[in-house]
Amino acid sequence: MSLGCVRHNDRPATVYCTSCKSAICDSCTLATHFDHDRQLIGEFVQQRRLELRDHSVVVEHRQRQVDNEVERVRRASDKLIRTQSFSLYLDFLALTLIHYRLR
Ligand SMILES: [Zn+2]
Ligand SMILES: [Zn+2]
Repeated sequence: MSLGCVRHNDRPATVYCTSCKSAICDSCTLATHFDHDRQLIGEFVQQRRLELRDHSVVVEHRQRQVDNEVERVRRASDKLIRTQSFSLYLDFLALTLIHYRLR
């Protein structure tokens, strides 16, 4: 992936200006952004990649929690169906829906 400079479309961005949150080329680095916080574009891209990876780990973890919860509810409702308490089962489902909605 290569980024272009935000000001000069035809020039590749070599630096990411953290102050302006934009990818910029060499000449922009020397001109407008010389006293700004900057990092090399490669480092910036690498960092974003790591952040994305961390984020997907969090999402996976959350997905597992939801799966466990669904499994728990499924097992509990199986038990309720087996005891033939159908109205109790419906109450249970309603409570579960409220529980999910409140979160
Ligand atoms: Zn530029
Ligand atoms: Zn800047």
